[in-house]
Amino acid sequence: MRFDLHCHSTASDGALSPGELLQRAADSDLELLAITDHDTLDGWRQVGDTRGVRLVPGIELSSRWGGRGVHLVGLAIDPDSAAMAEALRHQRRARLERAGRIAEKLEKLGAENPLEGARAIAGGDNIGRPHFARHLVASGFCDSVEDAFRRHLGDGRPGDVKEAWPTLEVATRWIVDAGGIAVLAHPARYKLTATRLRALVDDFVVAGGRAIEVICGSQPPQWTRQLAALAAERGLLASAGSDFHRPGRPWAELGRVAPLPDDCEPVWRHW
Ligand code: AMP
Ligand code: MN
Ligand code: MN
Ligand code: MN
Repeated sequence: MRFDLHCHSTASDGALSPGELLQRAADSDLELLAITDHDTLDGWRQVGDTRGVRLVPGIELSSRWGGRGVHLVGLAIDPDSAAMAEALRHQRRARLERAGRIAEKLEKLGAENPLEGARAIAGGDNIGRPHFARHLVASGFCDSVEDAFRRHLGDGRPGDVKEAWPTLEVATRWIVDAGGIAVLAHPARYKLTATRLRALVDDFVVAGGRAIEVICGSQPPQWTRQLAALAAERGLLASAGSDFHRPGRPWAELGRVAPLPDDCEPVWRHW
């Protein structure tokens, strides 16, 4: 099965429109795709012709857990459910409120018109840190997007504002109530010790979480083995995706997802 269950379009911080994303998926002979834009279903809604690719409704929700930002992928959700409507309403407000707070902090640091600049790059109100980063580069305040994240927007920096996000429990519940499968996104990226990661997974399971991303983009094989073992230990389904945002990044290319280890139970088996 050729699939990708984690990628982004222009509806959030991706570079390709939903149509271009489907074309790229079809060109790579993908059979199954989930567009998982940050906190919006607009990309999914804009897809016209799926070009022979089976499209699963998906989303990547921002949440917080123990003072940390944690991402949850919702797969096979009902986009028209009351729970999704509530999630979208909440996340839209949270993202806008957060953007205002990030902009205030960047202004204090000397950046010019960060909110207007980021909004223009985002092409609307679904403003994320990558849009701020690109504005900081375009306005000469930072040398590169990487530099912007390292100095101002990344983990623990002033522009890393998490207070507006719902708790992990609330965000998981939205996905479950929308009839979807809640997947803990890229568990290896939170820089947690093995003990803390188990605590996160335990809280996630209690909240209704059913799966973890055993594979997200290119990652060291030992991560894959560790995450597969964790999934087996906790009885979780395994998901996998590229976290594709734009062409030109071979480590996160659409559909470039290593096979899941044999002992994993793939999340799509029941669809
Ligand atoms: P947000 O959803 O606004 O919190 O933005 C998070 C997004 O920023 C992630 O989904 C990535 O696409 C991007 N991102 C996170 N860290 C970095 C980084 N160090 N360099 C470039 N992009 C990043
Ligand atoms: Mn992103
Ligand atoms: Mn993410
Ligand atoms: Mn993502």
